[in-house]
Amino acid sequence: SDNNGGVTTVEPSKGKPPVTEDSIVNLDHGDPTMYEEFWRGIGDSASIFIPGWQTMSYFSDLGGICWFVEPGFEREVRRLHRLVGNAMVDGYHVLVGTGSTQLFQAVLYALSPASDGTPMNVVSPAPYYSSYPSVTNFLNSGLYRWGGDANTFDGDTCIELICSPNNPDGGIRRAVVKSKYSKAVYDFAYYWPQYTPITEAADHDIMLFTVSKCTGHAGTRLGWALVKDTEVAQKMIKFIELNTIGVSKDSQLRAAKIIGAVCNSYELSSAGKTSHLFHFAKEKMAERWIRLRAAVAASDIFALPNELSGYCSFSMETITANPPFAWLHCKKDDIEDLEGFLRLKKIITRGGTKFGVDGRVVRVSMVDTDQAFNVFIYRLATMN
Ligand code: PMP
Repeated sequence: SDNNGGVTTVEPSKGKPPVTEDSIVNLDHGDPTMYEEFWRGIGDSASIFIPGWQTMSYFSDLGGICWFVEPGFEREVRRLHRLVGNAMVDGYHVLVGTGSTQLFQAVLYALSPASDGTPMNVVSPAPYYSSYPSVTNFLNSGLYRWGGDANTFDGDTCIELICSPNNPDGGIRRAVVKSKYSKAVYDFAYYWPQYTPITEAADHDIMLFTVSKCTGHAGTRLGWALVKDTEVAQKMIKFIELNTIGVSKDSQLRAAKIIGAVCNSYELSSAGKTSHLFHFAKEKMAERWIRLRAAVAASDIFALPNELSGYCSFSMETITANPPFAWLHCKKDDIEDLEGFLRLKKIITRGGTKFGVDGRVVRVSMVDTDQAFNVFIYRLATMN
């Protein structure tokens, strides 16, 4: 360990191997390493120091509905939503999870009545986020099971997952299942101004968010849920209690500091523009999308979904959406496995079949390092 102005810092983790001109570029995961440059530039306003004697107890807030939520984290989450205007917070419980992945599982548990022994169907319109089927089915639960594409679901009761903007294709979505017994869960991992215009303060019963895609701190493993109904919130808390006996306090304190730094930069007039997270990320994403669209337009192999735009109440201007993933289609009839085709070119992507559609399309991360993105664009532009 080294000494940093009197505060001891630990050795940084190794992370991913560097990308060189002829190495493999892995854009399979949406690993948000793009954000590192921003946080390096921020300095210590987002650093925390935790003495050895702190955060030792299991408990965070014995007086509140959720005993493992750090009050400071909850406060900064509410402040962030009020700043961005992407979700209502008054009248909602704020729950915390080890990534929104844990909260997703807590929601399945909370919404599945165990009474008649028939597992609850869990559906989402294809193309859907590839983790939904795998996370739903991996324990073979008697409470719930993956029910497939929501567009073709014809049962009575189900849990519908609505991811908007959608992973993988960036589409703006609403619930599609019409049954009054279906329960909608909104996955708002990407409903932030760097990815999409903020068009309303969402007020659904259950909404999931994560620092992973908001500030880029995926390694902190922290997500939160805004939940209207107290009984549903209590069941979700019970799940997290049984699953991991709460959520890392150290992560919550760190996330609180980071979210606080984001809010401060917008709310304190002394802060310069270079410290505005959403502006940094939006410009960066916009520049990448312009380069990607140019490379795709010049190729006769690939196509992309149409560009979306709209008025953003946060940016106070009409902006173009910059989805976190490129949903890359293949125009050539003889390429049926685009993931395999790109792998031969040393580009790792995730093929359409994992998202409930065919293999002529792949998902490519747009939030990786400059290095990886540059090599990807270069290879794409020179491919035939
Ligand atoms: N939902 C969506 C749509 C995602 O893309 C991701 C991350 N890939 C998650 C949830 C999970 O995020 P977390 O890191 O908070 O578990």
